[in-house]
Amino acid sequence: MKLSKRLIVPPGSKVNLAAWDQNDTAGFDKKSIDAALEHNLKRLGELQYRLYAESRRSLLVILQGLDAAGKDGTIRHVCGAMNPQGCRVAAFKVPTPEEAAHDFLWRIHRQAPRTGEVVIFNRSHYEDVLIVRVHDLVPKSVWQRRYDRINEFEAELADAGVHVLKFFLHISKDEQLDRFRARLDDPAKNWKASPADFAERKCWTDYTAAYEDAISKCSTKAAPWFVIPANHKWFRNLAVSQIIVETLEALDMKFPKPAFDLSKIKLK
Ligand code: AMP
Ligand code: MG
Repeated sequence: MKLSKRLIVPPGSKVNLAAWDQNDTAGFDKKSIDAALEHNLKRLGELQYRLYAESRRSLLVILQGLDAAGKDGTIRHVCGAMNPQGCRVAAFKVPTPEEAAHDFLWRIHRQAPRTGEVVIFNRSHYEDVLIVRVHDLVPKSVWQRRYDRINEFEAELADAGVHVLKFFLHISKDEQLDRFRARLDDPAKNWKASPADFAERKCWTDYTAAYEDAISKCSTKAAPWFVIPANHKWFRNLAVSQIIVETLEALDMKFPKPAFDLSKIKLK
């Protein structure tokens, strides 16, 4: 079964994250994975080349997940396979005063991909129904209306030829603790440790509920959500790259025909 079929949240369904095993590897094991991952990354490079050459459509990959879920690592792997000319990452932090002075989609829309481009979002407009909801940063009556706004916005992107894929990197609470511990123990990871992450961990249940709502309400045909079992980094990388490859392959992209008769060009 295609991983995009196995891991998609069918539009209209209600997701219960407890039922999704963070350790799932869809039958792959660590030994057999290298060849599959290498194949995916090579294929990704080829498909991105076509997307760029064709320059009619584009790809937007949205990465969400709790702290230490692996957003940065996924970006390193997936982007590493692509030509930097045509691939870009946009990270969304606490809104700047300029961003906060606008509607919540303003800063997001400006980072949407142009035709031929791949853009990866490290966090996104979903923060406005996640951290904002968990910490009551705006009243419920405000964030509650955002699910519809998000669906309309993503449908508008899809109409403009943007293929939107949304990945929730699903880790367990124990795995998060192990990764936090590594951030404290490993000097090369110390810089990633943040007291805010430890504080957010206390809100695990609230975040789970907020994610379940966001994923259930906003998995649409135009912009589906995928739940990626992410306790095993190797499987996470395989799953994300494979779903992107499966999506791009379905676009059946063609190189543009030259606008002139090549045979008439004489090289001297
Ligand atoms: P990081 O991605 O680890 O660099 O952290 C960025 C932080 O910015 C996270 O704690 C996010 O939850 C937070 N953040 C992102 N977008 C928003 C937003 N719209 N409102 C409040 N906090 C946000
Ligand atoms: Mg962080």
